[in-house]
Amino acid sequence: MEVSQEVKNEKKIMVKLECMHKAFGSNKVLNGVDLQIRKGEVVVILGPSGSGKTTLLRCINFLERANQGKVTVNQYTVDCKKASNERIRTLRTKTAMVFQQYNLFRNKTALQNVMEGLIIVRGMKKCDAKVFSEQALERVGLADKFDFYPSQLSGGQQQRVGIARAIVMQPEVILLDEPTSALDPELVGEVLGTIKEVAKSGITMIIVTHEIAFAKEVASRVIFMEGGVVVEDGTPEEVINHPKELRTKQFLSRIH
Ligand code: ADP
Repeated sequence: MEVSQEVKNEKKIMVKLECMHKAFGSNKVLNGVDLQIRKGEVVVILGPSGSGKTTLLRCINFLERANQGKVTVNQYTVDCKKASNERIRTLRTKTAMVFQQYNLFRNKTALQNVMEGLIIVRGMKKCDAKVFSEQALERVGLADKFDFYPSQLSGGQQQRVGIARAIVMQPEVILLDEPTSALDPELVGEVLGTIKEVAKSGITMIIVTHEIAFAKEVASRVIFMEGGVVVEDGTPEEVINHPKELRTKQFLSRIH
């Protein structure tokens, strides 16, 4: 029987983590994480502080190197123990990260911040990088802020520059590490709205956040982590509204 392209895409595994272990000294932070994430899934990772959520994200793009395990992004596999710098560099081009503290260059404008990766990492000509970067800033609602420096932008606008910088690279997967937790409460909505818009484009996303309402609205899948392992994994309806595991129930009752 012939399988349609649509069904094939739906089933395509975009991110695969196998047996991920990471310790900082004697502190065992990841204790064997196995995960498969399909193309287009928007996965929210929930869990108490210190459960290893950020470390897991950072191990996917080798900002941290796991002690053991394998990371595969779009069929490109890197063994955490043995990987050469060359393989790590290649894997990194498949992901883009949005950081809690935005991590923008203070001495560059919004446009220059977004152009940087295209020029330096992709070797794109400046004039082409400018066109793509302007489009990315327009997508996040910052068409009127191209020439503004980070200090002239609100936290929410700075984070939207961070999101533009990620999408302009056209990665296979975007990793977002608590993208709203440094923001004043009144600025959280605009950033979540932007993430929601980007999610609609069908890009695969993995988001660490404490925003439960947002997770319910945007996530196609919710993962609950504790003690460096995946405790529960399912739809938002299953994990947030009808958690099976006691640890998930306890966590949700604390933060609701
Ligand atoms: P979460 O994102 O769930 O709050 P993290 O992954 O940030 O958890 O942290 C898990 C544990 O790893 C914490 O105990 C933290 O102190 C430790 N940790 C994280 N990064 C480092 C690091 N660079 N050096 C030492 N310990 C770290």
